[in-house]
Amino acid sequence: MVGSGAENGERRVTARRSDREDESPKRIGVLALQGDVREHVEILKKLGVEPVEVRTIEDLDRLAGLIVPGGESTTIGKIMVESGLLDGVRSFFYKGGPVWGTCAGMVLAASATTGPRQPLLGLMNALVERNGFGRQVHSFEKELEIEGFEEPFVGVFIRAPFFEDVGPGVEVMGEVDGRVVAAKGENILVTAFHPELTDDKRFHEYFLREVCGI
Ligand code: GLN
Repeated sequence: MVGSGAENGERRVTARRSDREDESPKRIGVLALQGDVREHVEILKKLGVEPVEVRTIEDLDRLAGLIVPGGESTTIGKIMVESGLLDGVRSFFYKGGPVWGTCAGMVLAASATTGPRQPLLGLMNALVERNGFGRQVHSFEKELEIEGFEEPFVGVFIRAPFFEDVGPGVEVMGEVDGRVVAAKGENILVTAFHPELTDDKRFHEYFLREVCGI
């Protein structure tokens, strides 16, 4: 019956339920096969989103974004092939899913490497040089000017890669001696360094705001 008390009551319940859904924290995945998983998870919690450790294709469901952390890109790539996640993450990305690769994650995001063949996601039109800063500079910190950031960001580099060349659609956000160490595409961000190992949350905030649209 139109306008009956019962129907109005039902409508109110429905409205309340959908309000609650809107308020639930967005789920952000962290690929948890190897590497710096815990550090990203802790920062995501502090930023009020729900971290999800991704180990299977099913874990990619209903994610508002995915972080591919640092570690060893050859190991992560091999496990991704075995678990089907290489194709799973590609399809997440090509359906518009936002991805951020740090260090090994930046290597995996590239479309080609200067080194021996290894499994890559190929999400970004870029040629990557693994361990690009040379063995002698195993790890270092550097203050970086980042496009879109008002203050410099201290990058922690650990056997870090860089992009030797980037194609159309790739926006360079930061460089060290002319080497690309931070870049952005439509639904992708990459950093050669490790923002999760610092107290500076600006890159996590940037990913959530500018790439995931949260
Ligand atoms: N050099 C490593 C690789 O190529 C990346 C190192 C890191 O993630 N800290 O996979």
